[in-house]
Amino acid sequence: MEIIFATHNPNKLKEVQQLLPAHLHLKGLKEIGFTKDIPETGNTLNENAWIKADTIFNTSRIACFADDTGLEVSALNGAPGVYSARYAGPEANALKNMEKLLQALESHTDRSAQFRTVIALHFNQQKFTFEGVVKGKIIRTPRGSGGFGYDPIFQPDGFETTFAEMDLDTKNKISHRGLAFQQLLHFLASPTNP
Ligand code: IMP
Repeated sequence: MEIIFATHNPNKLKEVQQLLPAHLHLKGLKEIGFTKDIPETGNTLNENAWIKADTIFNTSRIACFADDTGLEVSALNGAPGVYSARYAGPEANALKNMEKLLQALESHTDRSAQFRTVIALHFNQQKFTFEGVVKGKIIRTPRGSGGFGYDPIFQPDGFETTFAEMDLDTKNKISHRGLAFQQLLHFLASPTNP
């Protein structure tokens, strides 16, 4: 059976492909000839995940899923949240985003934050949502060179290292995305979901 991951990111695709049961053949947007960018115009992670999943389901009518992730900082009322990728503006990159976040938090003692991933799935003519959350704190000085995005300033609860100081296996076991995908894969691997 075919299932589409609504992503243009070949790395994400490869990672998920390795985890899927053998009877599910994963395809990315490139493989189905969908080359356009899907505008993420939603105000929430949920909305954006569904915009992507609905767009692809409505054109392909094939089972498909999409994900969206954000960093939610308590002292900033959940910002940057759905705007995490472009927090520092249209020309944003990881460094500029982190600088802006550290500045916004400079005077705050509450450093608590969480990463949240939402997955929207069209399957068997039904809609399902999965969510993964990892709680932690925003440290004051970036540490580590692994990972991407806000990894050097995010330290998950129960760990002395930032995401950028962890090996990928450890991060995947506890991360927002790891937890959300574990749920999706558990669902897809269930014998009652042919
Ligand atoms: P996306 O929805 O997976 O594209 O993630 C949106 C944005 O959230 C990314 O551009 C990053 O800035 C941030 N982000 C998502 N996942 C992570 C992560 O695991 N570590 C650090 N930043 C992340």
